[in-house]
Amino acid sequence: MENKKKIEEYIQILRDNKIRVTDQRVAILNYMIEKESHPTAREIYEALKDDYPSMSVATIYNNLEIFVALGFVLDLHYGAESARFDLTDCMHYHAICEKCGRIVDFNYPKLNQVEHDVAELTGFEVRSHRLEIFGVCPACQKNK
Ligand code: ZN
Ligand code: MN
Repeated sequence: MENKKKIEEYIQILRDNKIRVTDQRVAILNYMIEKESHPTAREIYEALKDDYPSMSVATIYNNLEIFVALGFVLDLHYGAESARFDLTDCMHYHAICEKCGRIVDFNYPKLNQVEHDVAELTGFEVRSHRLEIFGVCPACQKNK
């Protein structure tokens, strides 16, 4: 039910921006909502290709770039890995595995203060911040 509400919100954003609401776009969004992961365009392709034979990796990539431009998907590029995409509606940070490229979300509420402190220290009007932690995920630690 919750997911159904989310997809409707994204469809409304597409409509508001005069982007056509195609079955493929809805399928990509549904996949990202349900998986709660950070897929590459190819991973989405592998998951959807049987249901949408006319969809290529390039189509998916182009659609993801539209979502990025509309502001509800983040394009995550870490090192030499192919881009991963994050459908996100709230502030969070990423822990990135340097072996397999897996990205795990985490929150760290203590950092909410940092924007305020940096504004005081530098006089900046602070708009946002990012934090990325690099390491080796539990699964890759086991496979050593
Ligand atoms: Zn890993
Ligand atoms: Mn994320």
